[in-house]
Amino acid sequence: MATLRRFRDLPGAEIAAATLNAAGLECEVADECTIGLVWTYSTALGWMRLAVADSDSEAAREILEPAEAVEWPAEFEDDGTTDRCPRCNSTDLEVESGARKTLALMLITMGMPLWFWRSRLYCRACGWSRVLPLRIRPELVGVWLIAAVGSLLLTTVVFMAVGYIIHGRP
Ligand SMILES: [Zn+2]
Repeated sequence: MATLRRFRDLPGAEIAAATLNAAGLECEVADECTIGLVWTYSTALGWMRLAVADSDSEAAREILEPAEAVEWPAEFEDDGTTDRCPRCNSTDLEVESGARKTLALMLITMGMPLWFWRSRLYCRACGWSRVLPLRIRPELVGVWLIAAVGSLLLTTVVFMAVGYIIHGRP
């Protein structure tokens, strides 16, 4: 097997793998399971490797290369959902959010607020994708604030109850 490209996250690797599969090439993504669960480890593991058979590496490179060469138009930054794919001109575009990665990261950081969300714009027609800039997720901020206030109130109630039990009624 020859390592073709490395990906830092699973969606990128999956899209490239799907592109190769659609072209009739066998490939495999190494370290996929580990990083799907704990994606922050992907850097330490040298990212995910997309590997193909040695005899297929030339063809696979040619399939994936055009994706690197085309630039997205600047207006895509403003409104990705109403635009067209610059590669196949399809309007069947989708914004994927890294729900699984975010959940894993929240578990790792033990309740630390995760206010940023990495999204990916994905063309369902041809498999083209592009990582969108980090975005603030207001609902996550809200959930975290509610949880913080809730735990503060709970702590206060518990302290008052313990004080009442120990010292009795004043
Ligand atoms: Zn497309």
